Amino acid sequence: MASKVPTGGGTVPDMFAERFDRVRTAMAETGTDVLLLSVGPDLPWLTGYEAMPLERLTMLVLPRDGDATLVVPQLEAPRVVERPEAFAVRPFGETDDPIALVRSLAGPAGRVAVSDRTWARFVLDLQAAFGPGTTWARGSQVTGPLRAVKDPVELDALRLAGAAADRVARQLQGGEIALAGRTEAEVSADLGRRLVAEGHARVNFAIVAAGENAASPHHEPGERVIRPGEVVLCDFGGTLVHEGVGYCSDITRCVSLGEPPAEVAEAYAVLQDAQQAAVAVATVGTPCEAVDAAARDRIAAAGHGDRFIHRTGHGIGVEEHEDPYIVAGNAEPLRAGHAFSVEPGIYAPGAWGLRLEDIVLATADGPEPVNVVDHALAVIEA
Ligand code: ZN
Ligand code: ZN
Ligand code: ZN
Repeated sequence: MASKVPTGGGTVPDMFAERFDRVRTAMAETGTDVLLLSVGPDLPWLTGYEAMPLERLTMLVLPRDGDATLVVPQLEAPRVVERPEAFAVRPFGETDDPIALVRSLAGPAGRVAVSDRTWARFVLDLQAAFGPGTTWARGSQVTGPLRAVKDPVELDALRLAGAAADRVARQLQGGEIALAGRTEAEVSADLGRRLVAEGHARVNFAIVAAGENAASPHHEPGERVIRPGEVVLCDFGGTLVHEGVGYCSDITRCVSLGEPPAEVAEAYAVLQDAQQAAVAVATVGTPCEAVDAAARDRIAAAGHGDRFIHRTGHGIGVEEHEDPYIVAGNAEPLRAGHAFSVEPGIYAPGAWGLRLEDIVLATADGPEPVNVVDHALAVIEA
């Protein structure tokens, strides 16, 4: 059962057991007696199992000083990859009471942390079952700082996901994906199929924004037909499973169907310089907000400051958006193992929009972009 991890040493069972050790240490530091994890990203990160978002409760019960148990509906138990070195599996039947089961497995529980995405209906029932002697905290207080610093297996997963997204971006830049005459929605579906063909288990999003639609950073691709002469912004990503856990990709590239107008070409040059500068300063110890400032200062100096309307980036891992956030006001220094996007944008409402995005790993050897596909504005003959 000890399947080898390609790099980083150790085995996959070691990987999960090691994460349990780190969680127990964080529980001690935060005075947490019991950690309860349900739907959401914490559970797959820790156990390799992703709970169905269902009315039947799935919950890992992790007492700081006791054995961990995954409480799971009986009909879903076959989906669980058992990792007895880390946790036991406790299926429950259709007429059992999983809340009572969780309560009994938790043991003494002065302070309980429950995962942020746990459904309110379960939290309310759990609070009643644990009674007034228990105080409650967010699970992310325990798991957030741990998940933000990726271990070697996670860094490999992000590299693989980034390389898969790069292959799709290369197809886009090479003109292999038809644009002119198709709707944004058709191109979005095409990008999604290609993400899966390149190894992703699922598509998380594929923004395709043509012309003036690109001025809306999170534009919903629709029936708008892409026309020759337009700049098209594509921002897409999926989840790729590596060693039993899914990790996200996220990349933005823009293509111009024919030579872009001078105004757009000039703005793109500013954007590319700003993005490159922000990646370059993303060394271990640099405050997150300094990475944001590196991009923002250059865009502002070129007169586009009011057209860069969002933070420079977000952490990424099991979730598309997680800690650390690359934003003014976040003085947290980058640590080796932080993984985040660097994605400045310049948006001209009613006219055009540009964004350039890579995922970057902070390493002891400096910033390591996992996306290396061409950063220029690709010009495709329409
Ligand atoms: Zn976004
Ligand atoms: Zn993106
Ligand atoms: Zn992003």
